[in-house]
Amino acid sequence: MDLTENNTPVEETGGLNFVEQEIVKDLKEGRNGGRLNTRFPPEPNGYLHIGHAKAIIMDFGAAEKFGGTCNLRFDDTNPQKEDTEYVESIMRDIKWLGYDWEDRLYYASDYFPQLYDFAIRLIKEGKAYVDEQTSEQIASQKGTPTEPGTNSPYRDRPIEENLDLFERMNKGEFEEGSMVLRAKIDMANSNMHFRDPIIYRIIKTPHWRTGDKWKVYPMYDFAHGQSDFFEGVTHSICTLEFVPHRPLYEYFVKELADENYCPRQIEFNRLNLTYTVMSKRKLLQLVKEGLVNGWDDPRMPTLCGLRRRGYTPSAIKDFVDRIGYTKYEALNHIELLEHAVREDLNKTATRVSAVVNPVKLILTNYPAEKAEMIFVENNPENPEEGRHGMPFSRELWIEKEDFMENPPKKFFRLSPDKEVRLKGAYIIKCTGFKKNEEGQIEEIYAEYDPDTKSGMPGADRKVKGTLHWVSVPTAKDVEVRDYDRLFSVENPSAEEGDFRELLNQDSLKIRKGVKLEPWAVKNAKPGDHFQFTRLGYYTVDPDSDNGKLVFNKTIGLKDTWAKEQKKL
Ligand code: ATP
Ligand code: MG
Repeated sequence: MDLTENNTPVEETGGLNFVEQEIVKDLKEGRNGGRLNTRFPPEPNGYLHIGHAKAIIMDFGAAEKFGGTCNLRFDDTNPQKEDTEYVESIMRDIKWLGYDWEDRLYYASDYFPQLYDFAIRLIKEGKAYVDEQTSEQIASQKGTPTEPGTNSPYRDRPIEENLDLFERMNKGEFEEGSMVLRAKIDMANSNMHFRDPIIYRIIKTPHWRTGDKWKVYPMYDFAHGQSDFFEGVTHSICTLEFVPHRPLYEYFVKELADENYCPRQIEFNRLNLTYTVMSKRKLLQLVKEGLVNGWDDPRMPTLCGLRRRGYTPSAIKDFVDRIGYTKYEALNHIELLEHAVREDLNKTATRVSAVVNPVKLILTNYPAEKAEMIFVENNPENPEEGRHGMPFSRELWIEKEDFMENPPKKFFRLSPDKEVRLKGAYIIKCTGFKKNEEGQIEEIYAEYDPDTKSGMPGADRKVKGTLHWVSVPTAKDVEVRDYDRLFSVENPSAEEGDFRELLNQDSLKIRKGVKLEPWAVKNAKPGDHFQFTRLGYYTVDPDSDNGKLVFNKTIGLKDTWAKEQKKL
């Protein structure tokens, strides 16, 4: 019998992941009055990335699925690293993913008074003390998982003295780093987090919400579990690195909770993606040092970067669904994410014609003054989207790669004396070409067969190759930005040394003078997705303005993931 992470037989899961199964079980048993209230708790010290999307989809998704609610809570306990720019971007990105916290927007800083009072209470009960040692001294007394730690010389300071010092710490009488408040728990506990953890420190940088009201700030481990409790959270879902912190959170919350209500923490595995990094610290470094063009650089794994690149919320959700939630750390393949993006855009992106590497094709038997419209489907996956017209003329742009002077045997594109079909239009036969002084092909000549127009009765003579094209007189020059992997190694976080040296130096190529058909030019707005026939999916970049059009290559058409899966 196959079992899931929480020992449920697979056939009894009803398609739910192990976290959802636990939630369903709690709701059935009436735990916390049968309520479901999750939360997403970002620290506003960076932009959200696709790993956060996995957590958001779990937190908001489970609430949606089982009739609960999900809070957005900013864990703003460190004024030195936080910024409103991050708060705003986080809200924008959650909304973009399609989730809404409605009126449930909270900040850990809302709980500073309660947390401070709780700390005072612990001091009064002899469960916390002010330590005047340096952080190095405190660290050196921690011991190891197999050896107990050493008690601080300040551990048995009288309660009155602790109270006095802590209050004066908060008045700003002492320097940062000169004192901390520690919980007095157990320096020999096998869980290192219980060895008298630091719960408050002095920070004099003003807080962006509470100004200079506080000079002491709670540590993350002293704020997180209690914030869940103050907010009425029932399921505190987070990632596996918090497993060893859970007993400490429970220790603090137990001091506050009663038998009717206590939040429950459940941990799942992080999302890690090949050829990129997920650490906010490293992403910040890439931005600050100008190694990428901002947080929304389309090569970044940030949600704003992926959005700019052209990735969609539904593709991201599909990817998260495919990788699933487990109890085991894994490295997820970027090809699977790309596969999900391709599948989604295939259903929605409008098909247009663009030539990225143009060479001129002249149809010598097509009258120079003649112009006609060729109608093409906007999306063969969805006939309801209709068709649009593409002007056809004597002079056309085609891709340089679609012509070869001396082709190998299996080359089914254009070469001397060979026939191809111009997509949606006529069959043509190559009659010659002209080279420039450097020996490069400058013009290609061909004759069209007027009896072969696509869709006309009797015109369906088969030829092996079909080429895309854009008419010369009506084409518009646009810019296309091509992207490659941000890092040149599969798992940069696993490598020794400076991660910046592992950056792929060739991850951005800018092409100017890409030829685009006029209907697409007229209709392209920032954020719109197109499929350039035979080339890939492209998304209009916000840099487009005043008649200048810029496209990001979202992803090519070749599906390396699907191909690998077929081989297996
Ligand atoms: P930091 O190192 O700054 O704490 P963080 O990535 O943990 O970075 P948070 O803002 O604390 O950032 O994350 C908010 C929530 O998102 C947390 O509950 C965390 O567990 C979850 N999360 C962060 N990274 C991932 C990831 N790669 N996969 C899944 N969930 C993640
Ligand atoms: Mg964190």
